[in-house]
Amino acid sequence: MNSQTIEALVTQIKAGSLSVLKLVEDCYDKIEAAQSFDFIIAETKQRALERAKTLDQEIAQGKRSNKRLFGIPFIAKDNFLSYGAKTTAASKMLANFEAPYQATAITKLEDEGAICVAKSNLDAFAHGSSTENSDFMITKNPYDVTRVPGGSSGGSAVAVALQVVPFSIGTDTGGSIRQPASFCGVIGYKPTYGLVSRSGVIAMSSSMDTIGVFTNNIDDCQLVMDVMSGQDPLDSTTLDSKHKIVYPSLPSKSSQFKVAVIKNYLDDAVDPKVRASFNVFVSKLKSDPNIVLCEIDLQSLKYALAVYYVLGPAEIASNLGRYDGLRFGYSNPSDSIEETYLSNRTNGFGAEAKRRIMIGTYVLSSGYYDAYYKKAQKVRTIIVDNFKQAFLKHDFLIGPTVPTPAFKIGQKTKHSMDMYLSDIMTVAANLAGIPDINLPIDRANNLPVGVQIMANQTQDNQLLAFSKYLEGKI
Ligand code: GLN
Repeated sequence: MNSQTIEALVTQIKAGSLSVLKLVEDCYDKIEAAQSFDFIIAETKQRALERAKTLDQEIAQGKRSNKRLFGIPFIAKDNFLSYGAKTTAASKMLANFEAPYQATAITKLEDEGAICVAKSNLDAFAHGSSTENSDFMITKNPYDVTRVPGGSSGGSAVAVALQVVPFSIGTDTGGSIRQPASFCGVIGYKPTYGLVSRSGVIAMSSSMDTIGVFTNNIDDCQLVMDVMSGQDPLDSTTLDSKHKIVYPSLPSKSSQFKVAVIKNYLDDAVDPKVRASFNVFVSKLKSDPNIVLCEIDLQSLKYALAVYYVLGPAEIASNLGRYDGLRFGYSNPSDSIEETYLSNRTNGFGAEAKRRIMIGTYVLSSGYYDAYYKKAQKVRTIIVDNFKQAFLKHDFLIGPTVPTPAFKIGQKTKHSMDMYLSDIMTVAANLAGIPDINLPIDRANNLPVGVQIMANQTQDNQLLAFSKYLEGKI
C-alpha cells in the first residue's frame, strides 16, 4: 500500500474504493508479521479500530471531508503522550504511565483524519543512538537483524522502512530522526527549532528538542509537516505560523541552488563505504546545471559534540528532576521521604539517564558552571554564528548524515563515548536550531547510507523544495 503517496491513498479512501478499517487492520497484520524486529512497544488498537470505523461510516453516508490525512495510519515514538495506550518513553520509570492528555502533534494529525495505530520503541527517554538503551527490547535493523536501526527513534524508522505505515513521527534532539533514517534507508526530517509544538512530548533537552517525521517520499514528508507545524499556545517556544511548512510547495524563489559540501564532515573517521556513496552523490550534483556546488570549512563544528554533551545533560538533569515517583512514575515508597526519592529514582532510571543526570548536575554546579556550562554556551554561540555566516553565501550545506552505516548490536554499548561519536555529524543542527533532512542515497553492501542537507533557520520550505528536486535524481 505504501508505495503510493498519502495523497493518493486519501483520494481512494474518499472515493470509497479503499476501506480505512482494512487499511488499519493491514497495519496490525504487518506489525504481527514483523514482530521479530521488536519495534513496537504498544498497539493503540481499540481506539484505532473505532476511529477507522467512524471514518468509513462518514464515507458510506456520503459525507464530504477535506481532511488531508483522512484514514491514514501512523506510528508515534513512545515519548509522545497519547491516548489509547500507555506512554513509557521506553523507561521502567514510566512503564505504567497513562497520559492524562495528548501531544499537540498527535492531536493535529488526528484532527486531519490520521489514525495512530501503535507506539514505537526508542532509547529510554530518547538517550541513545541505537535503540539498545530501551528498557524493554532491542529493535533490529530491517536490512540486517544483527545490526541496530539507529536511535533514539529506531522503532519509528523501522516502521516506515518496513512499510508498515506511510509515516511515523519521532523526536530529534541530537540526531534521533536523521541518524536512524540514515541507518534504515528512509527520509527523516528535523525541522527548524520551534516549528512543531512539543506540548505533550517528554522533554529531553529543551533548547534542542524538535519533532519530525519519517517517510518514504518527500511529498508525504511535506504534507505531514504541514499538518504538524505552526504556532501552539501550549508551547511558548513555537514560531509564528507564517514559517510553517506548506504542501504542496510554494514555487521556488530561485532556479539555482547554491550548495556547499561541509569539508569537516569528510575526515578520516568516515567509513570508506559512506565516503564512496557520498562522493557519487556529490558528482551527481556537480553535473546538474541548476546546482552551484562548492566546499566550505566550518571550523567550529569540531566542538559541536563536546558542546552537545555538556549542554544536553545539563538540560536533561533539569528535565528529569520531575520524576520523583510521588505523583506519577515508578514508585517504591520507603520510610523517609529522602529514601523514597532515592529508591524511586535509583530503580526507575537506567544507567544512561543516571550518567546524564550526574554529568548535567556536575557541569551546572557551583565552581564548575563557568568552566563547563557557560563555556559550552559560548561555543554554541560561535557555532550558531558560523552557520549564519555560511548561509549568507549558500542555500544548503551537505554531508554524510552518520560516519558509518548501521553498526552491530552490542558494538558500541561498552563505552559511552563510542556511542556518542555516532552523533558527531548530527548534533550541530540541533545546537544551531536549523532544519536538516536525511535522504537515502545508496545501499552499499546492502546497508543504507544517507546524506544530510541543512538549511538556514525557517528555510524549511526551501529545504523541502530542494529535496523534492533531488528526489529521483539521486
Ligand atoms: N543520540 C543522541 C543522544 O543520545 C541524540 C538523541 C536524540 O536526538 N534524542 O543524545
